[in-house]
Amino acid sequence: MALDQSLLAALERLHAGVPRPVALHEPEFDEDEQALVRETIASTFVSSVGKFVDEFERNLAEFTGARHAVAVANGTAALQVALQLAGVTQGDEVLLPALTFVASANATAHAGGVPHFVDSEARTLGLDPAALEAHLRRVGERTAQGLRNRDTGRRIAAVVPMHTYGHPVDLAALVDLCGRWGIALVEDAAESLGSWYQGVHTGNFGLVGTLSFNGNKTVTTGGGGALVTNDSDLARRAKHLTTTAKRPHRWEFFHDEVAWNFRLPNLNSALGVAQMRKLPRFLAEKRALAGAYAAALAGMPGVRFASEPDGTRSNYWLCTAVLAQPDMAVRDQVLATLNDAGFQSRPTWTLMHRLPMYASCPRAPLPVAEALEASIINLPSSPKLGRRLA
Ligand SMILES: *Cc1c(COP(=O)(O)O)cnc(C)c1O
Repeated sequence: MALDQSLLAALERLHAGVPRPVALHEPEFDEDEQALVRETIASTFVSSVGKFVDEFERNLAEFTGARHAVAVANGTAALQVALQLAGVTQGDEVLLPALTFVASANATAHAGGVPHFVDSEARTLGLDPAALEAHLRRVGERTAQGLRNRDTGRRIAAVVPMHTYGHPVDLAALVDLCGRWGIALVEDAAESLGSWYQGVHTGNFGLVGTLSFNGNKTVTTGGGGALVTNDSDLARRAKHLTTTAKRPHRWEFFHDEVAWNFRLPNLNSALGVAQMRKLPRFLAEKRALAGAYAAALAGMPGVRFASEPDGTRSNYWLCTAVLAQPDMAVRDQVLATLNDAGFQSRPTWTLMHRLPMYASCPRAPLPVAEALEASIINLPSSPKLGRRLA
């Protein structure tokens, strides 16, 4: 049987009785969200201050084990602030996987930086520390001002790994590499709330980590994001910079630096508080779904299921099938067959160096990212699909 037909048969079996179309990842709310949002509206504190902002930040810190969490307007904003806090200034290069969502590159550009794309690993689907090391040996030059790209003359200030579809990257190797080369580590943990690396939640390995609560993420606040950090000074700076840098005072408006209005409104935070109560259940259901996909794909020739890397626990944000032979035509045939049958599925993002605004950015050889681009298929991954299997 052709691969698209065997995948379709597997999905039809797994999701028998589920009304179609089956969404890629849909949010889920019940009376909890309705009650807290109603309470927020009744209180009139729908905007930039209110108890749910503080409570949501406490929930996030507790869940991730980070000392501090600062809620902001979205994940892209969180990343932009994180890069500024990590010392990225005008003209600095920031190392990013070419295989990522465009937010990583946009946040870099908005922070004044220049994306510098590096390759990924097939095992983790995330940034490959060994390939990065080999690349730095070719282009990196240590100077008194820090690491310099000898091809472009610019400083290489930071690296932003991303935990693709919830699977943690090889953080031990990256932390080690960053220490030896003197590069700031910022984790884009937008997709990995509920993912742990060797027992420590993602987002805790660098200076600062960032989260997203967009509508398709594991928990959602409509739109939203957060910075997590174990550095109290950085947390204070993050809060100050994202709330117009206003000095606290009963009536005076005095702002002491150029800042942003990136606050997460109390209304959205109320949604977040209710969602965080459901997160453990969502994670169990998504894990059950991933187990069922893994079993269904186990004996199928030409494809593998992307399982969590050894030593990690993934949230399985988006369950992923990977073609054994990268092939755009086969990939697109599978996507057409599944979507036509009402199983919403999609390819990975177009690699960043193919987008017009980032086409001239510096980059390492990207053989694995290019192969993954022609082999990744994201499958329907909503928690409720795993409920019957959990
Ligand atoms: C979702 C996401 C973000 C943040 O997106 P927002 O929509 O701005 O919250 C950042 N990076 C990655 C990899 C993401 O998947």
